[in-house]
Amino acid sequence: MRILVSNDDGYFSPGIAALAEAAKEFGEVVVVAPERDRSGASNSLTLDRPLTVRRAASGFLYINGTPTDCVHVAVTGLLDHRPDLVISGINDGANMGDDTIYSGTVAAAMEGYLLGLPAIAFSLAKKGYEHLDVARSVAADVLRRFIAQPPVTGSPILLNVNIPSAPRDKIRGIAVTRLGKRHFAEPVIRATNPRGETIYWIGPSGSAKDAGPGTDFDAVANDWIAITPLDVDLTGRQWTDAVQRWAAK
Ligand code: MN
Repeated sequence: MRILVSNDDGYFSPGIAALAEAAKEFGEVVVVAPERDRSGASNSLTLDRPLTVRRAASGFLYINGTPTDCVHVAVTGLLDHRPDLVISGINDGANMGDDTIYSGTVAAAMEGYLLGLPAIAFSLAKKGYEHLDVARSVAADVLRRFIAQPPVTGSPILLNVNIPSAPRDKIRGIAVTRLGKRHFAEPVIRATNPRGETIYWIGPSGSAKDAGPGTDFDAVANDWIAITPLDVDLTGRQWTDAVQRWAAK
């Protein structure tokens, strides 16, 4: 079993060290991760400049690009083998509901999936890594289960795992969930830079809106490990008929 590990928080993040450690038990691990924090990078590819790959003292490879670049470069040429599994994280903070659209953690896994590989994104639901040891052992449990018997055979699958930030004995088990929904994002934060120019910081994401039973938000809030299977088809099927009628007028 050859496992490619990436993330969006950067190759130096405690979360990726924990995930690489968790994965070691199951085979040969290669880490290829961004050289700096690229949280929120989504599925972006760097097309306007070259990418370089360097090796850190930890043995981890890092690239001056996005999470998607890292997995893309690794799978399509850097590695001398095709990995059996791509994993990403452990992210410093949740990636639930609409976060998955913006998340670089999910994007790294999704790039593996788009390249035809099974992939799992791991996030620790609260920033600060207070329970990173627990998250590492949960990730190892999920990997053990997945590697022993993947949920589907014959096609790759993409899983988004959010781990509650809680002591191990508080975590109740795995809940298979759907993505919840967030309220619209908080307003942009306006400030003035030292030159007197107006600058803007993107504000925090909105609070949970659809956080009812069955959602990832609800599961994590109740100390369940939320596993949401993801797919990449953005087709708005509920609108197809209406648009068909509109277009035919
Ligand atoms: Mn991140």
